[in-house]
Amino acid sequence: MDSVGVAAAAAHDAGPGPAWQSKCPWGAPNTTSISCSLADVMSEQLAKELQLEEENAAFPEVVAVAEGPFITGENVDTSSDLMLAQMLQMEFDREYDAQLRREEKKINGDSKVSISFENYRKVHPYDSDSSEDEVDWQDTRHDPYRADKPTTTPRRGFIGKGKDITTKHDEVVCGRKNTARMENFAPEFQVGDGIGMDLKLSNQVFNALKQHAYSEERRSARLHEKKEHSTAEKAVDPKTRLLLYKMVNAGMLETITGCISTGKESVVFHAYGGKSTTEDKVIPPECAIKVFKTTLNEFKNRDKYIKDDYRFKDRFSKLNPRKIIRMWAEKEMHNLTRMQNAGIPCPQVVILKKHVLVMSFIGKDQVPAPKLKDVTLSSEDMKKAYYQTLNMMQQLYKECNLVHADLSEYNMLWHDGKVWLIDVSQSVEPTHPHGLEFLFRDCKNVSQFFQKGGVAEALNERELFNAVSGLNITADNEVDFQAEIEALEKMNEDHVQNHGKKLATFSSDGDPPIYDE
Ligand code: ADP
Ligand code: MN
Repeated sequence: MDSVGVAAAAAHDAGPGPAWQSKCPWGAPNTTSISCSLADVMSEQLAKELQLEEENAAFPEVVAVAEGPFITGENVDTSSDLMLAQMLQMEFDREYDAQLRREEKKINGDSKVSISFENYRKVHPYDSDSSEDEVDWQDTRHDPYRADKPTTTPRRGFIGKGKDITTKHDEVVCGRKNTARMENFAPEFQVGDGIGMDLKLSNQVFNALKQHAYSEERRSARLHEKKEHSTAEKAVDPKTRLLLYKMVNAGMLETITGCISTGKESVVFHAYGGKSTTEDKVIPPECAIKVFKTTLNEFKNRDKYIKDDYRFKDRFSKLNPRKIIRMWAEKEMHNLTRMQNAGIPCPQVVILKKHVLVMSFIGKDQVPAPKLKDVTLSSEDMKKAYYQTLNMMQQLYKECNLVHADLSEYNMLWHDGKVWLIDVSQSVEPTHPHGLEFLFRDCKNVSQFFQKGGVAEALNERELFNAVSGLNITADNEVDFQAEIEALEKMNEDHVQNHGKKLATFSSDGDPPIYDE
């Protein structure tokens, strides 16, 4: 490779001389001597500089404008979200159009009649800055091989003179005219090669076709609308796309491979981690990206989790809906961090950007670890999973000062022979006004799951609740138990009302509660 390069350079040095310079059809090259070593030739920097110089000379104003608030080479101004969004949209539109052209080509193939998708393009031909695009489009618009349209009768309704006159009611003319009118059908409506073949369509056939074409058009419009709607719902809005795009651009993520889950409140994607180690973080090889949905409907019934959480109390009232959603993401991040610090198996937080949380992926090779509800465990593993869960619930309560609040076999993954806890955006501190109720609900789910799963040792929900919380509620039925829980919560609330601060922990033994200092 090297020797070839050197040889080529040598040939270049020896070859061109004044002889060709005078004959060269492009005129004599400008003999500004740029000192140029082989290293320089290979240098990307030099190439860029040269190109910039060239562009400067060719389009002085354009470059001047481009250097303004917009883009200069690799130095993309990321401060304007709107601008980036527009850039991104443009890029998407171009990709869409390119795909459209490929489809158009595929459909038209060698057919004499070609169908144009021009009306379906997103980017106006004049907005497209790629010259290649333009050529392509002109090709389809002025296809030299395209059959001429059959001639139709002029407006006055007849042509010819004397006995050669043909009126618009002439069967043959009418047939041709009908054939020509097929061109007005929607582009997806396949009319075949008839237009180039002097085909004559009777009025009856034409009308039937027309009816069909229109109803097809309406149907496809409906389908299209539905599709658009559903993708908008399932995938992400442009702002989120931009956020993800920035993460990939910054090298934090390598590629986003696809969607793992679409829930009511979030969409989770899988991504391969990038190499960027900014913020002193090594990015895990595989990441899960949880995008909290920015449509509020689903979040309305979550108010009670966050509104009463003292950590967010002051902020809640002042926030707009968009910020509240970011707060869910923020909560998930904080809670995961607490769990991580306590050594509970859970995703590790990589980064939080607005309503998008990137964390380590639980699973391997793009396959997420199964939920506990979906995996069939041996009785031994089931028992192991139970004790581990009990342990994690205690750790969560005592060391992290948290109640999961949505704990069930749906939010526990089985990976590497152990249970991993996920989905903690709704988790609250035990002294949350409804914290103990949430804990009791968690206990019901967990003990039911493991008891059904055949773990004989599994505590019942009330025993589990006491084991986790360290409380000693003695009621032997659910109703009384629940009542005691609510009484404790109320006591805590009253304390907050009277003293302006919460209890550090609960105590049910009639001992004076332990106060926070
Ligand atoms: P939701 O609020 O929609 O239930 P979750 O956090 O439970 O959100 O995520 C939904 C699903 O996405 C989970 O059930 C799990 O299958 C998958 N998932 C979420 N986070 C991860 C992760 N870090 N690794 C692997 N899979 C994940
Ligand atoms: Mn979940």
